[in-house]
Order: sequence, then structure tokens, then C-alpha cells
Amino acid sequence: MNQINRDTVAGPPTTSLRRALRILGDPWTMLILKEAYNGDRRFGGFQKKLNIPKQTLSLRLAHLCHEQMMYRRQVSPTHTTLEYALTAKAFDLQDAMYSIWLWHEANPSDVSVLPFEIVHRSCGQRISARYRCTHCRNEVLSESVTVEHTQPLQFDPRDRLSRRNDKAVTAAGDLGAEKMVAASLVGDIACNEILYTLFRSPSHLKAIADGLDLGMSVARGRLEKLRLLGLVEERQDGRKLTYSVLPKAERFYPLLLSIADWGDRWCNDGQPPPELRVHSCGELVHGRFCCDHCGGWIGRENVYVRPRQDNSDGEGS
Ligand SMILES: [Zn+2]
Ligand SMILES: [Zn+2]
Repeated sequence: MNQINRDTVAGPPTTSLRRALRILGDPWTMLILKEAYNGDRRFGGFQKKLNIPKQTLSLRLAHLCHEQMMYRRQVSPTHTTLEYALTAKAFDLQDAMYSIWLWHEANPSDVSVLPFEIVHRSCGQRISARYRCTHCRNEVLSESVTVEHTQPLQFDPRDRLSRRNDKAVTAAGDLGAEKMVAASLVGDIACNEILYTLFRSPSHLKAIADGLDLGMSVARGRLEKLRLLGLVEERQDGRKLTYSVLPKAERFYPLLLSIADWGDRWCNDGQPPPELRVHSCGELVHGRFCCDHCGGWIGRENVYVRPRQDNSDGEGS
């Protein structure tokens, strides 16, 4: 093991997840993208659906345009009205977003916040899916993935993730949609990175804070949030508090993996990704959601969204 002198470097280790989260790491950004995937393209549409302050919306849309996730165009040659269109980079993230929907489906108290459901066109069933390896078709679980670094560990300057900045936690509260647990988690860089770390192995507070270059109070606050959500458990281990992920968190893992994958593709400036994730079958993890009903792969070309039909159409099995 290389001994790294952390005094000479600033910031946490670089990963594709972190690079991707620099673009996505904000609850509003995630919610705007969700509406865009569902077909909204207009400023007014986003504003109405999300009940978001105008200035906040402008800033987030500008950010998404700057990151080449969206661009402004005229609705039609004869119309001067502008709309926000999604780029290929944004569409490439769409499959990852199903995990958020699946997450809410699996947590019945959250379901009411989603007024729509996603249907798999191939079999006509509301999607229920597992994240599977495209090589061996086994489910991709945190315990079946190992991470390898491809190059000497690099460190990110600590520009966005300030050691004291705690804003991300409260931003989700502003929208009166604290129930959008998944969006508020994905929108929070520190929460994601803590989960990602704990999926690899249990750890204690100081190691988490040091490893991710978070202030102790920020790390403690996020761990408390994750604990209250039932994703992480805390145990007294001698004089230390040790944290580990609970089974409920496993549903969150595909989301982190697919965001990291997307980061590999779009956020490394043509460089090799800083880390490789290897599945237990020996191949690099290329996961996709696979329909529990018909066994087909799920992707944006074969799903559609419809208003929620609240008859419990039997879970099948
Ligand atoms: Zn595999
Ligand atoms: Zn299906």
C-alpha cells in the first residue's frame, strides 16, 4: 500500500462518481432532470411542477446548459418561445433515474409523492426490476463488486465540497418535498460518497471524515441523516462509533453505480476512469435494469410513463 501524505494534497480521492456528482449533486438539479425526462421542456412547466423559485430555476437551468446536459432552442421555426432540450449526455443518464422510481416503489411511504408510473413496453407491466450484470445476468449487489484503481490515487481540490458547507442538506427541505428521499440523497454529494464508502466496508466516523475530506460535523450530520432514513446503522465499537449499511440501502446501490458509470463515460475528459468496478464474474460491471416480469432489459427506448393507476394490481410474486 502506498503511504499517501495527506498533508500535501487537498481534497478527497477522485472517482467517477464524484465527478458526476459535481454536475448532479443538488436536489433541484435532479428534480429538474426528472421532469425533463418525463417530457417537460419549458421554464414555466418546471416552475409549476416543482414549485421552485424563479431565480433558483434559472440558475439550475443555466448550470445544466453549462454542463451540456441541456440547450435552449426555439419550440419550432415559427415559434419564438424557447424550450430546454436534453442532450445525448443527459439522455444517457436517464436509465439511472429508474432507480429513483424503483426506490420509491420499494418504500411505500414514499410512493404517494410520485404521481406517475413507468411501464415496460415489452410486457405492458409496471416496471419492477433488478440491476443485473449484462455479462453474467446475476444481480449486481454491493458485496459482488470490487473497486480497482487504474492509476495512482488522485485527489480533487476541495472546491465544491467545502468542509463546512452544509447547504445541500437543507436545500431539499426548501421544496416541501423532503419525502423525495432519493432525490435529496442523490442531490447530496457527501451522502452519496459516504454510502459508496460504506458499501465497500463498515467504517468509523473519523475514517469516513478523513477519507472523504469532510469536516467531522458534516460527516456526523450526514451519517445521522442516513441513520434516520434507515440506510445506515451505528454501533459502539470500543471507543469508536462504527457505521455500516443496512439491507434497505442496497436498493440505492444501483443508482450510485449507474451514476458512476455515467461519470466514466462523460466526466473524465477522455482520460481513463480513475477506478474500475469489477463484478464477481470477473468482468467490469456493466449493469442494467432487467424486468422481473419478462426478463428483458429496461431502457428509455422501451418504457413509457403514465399517470399512476392506484389499483394495487397484485404484486404477482
Ligand atoms: Zn457479472
Ligand atoms: Zn417486462
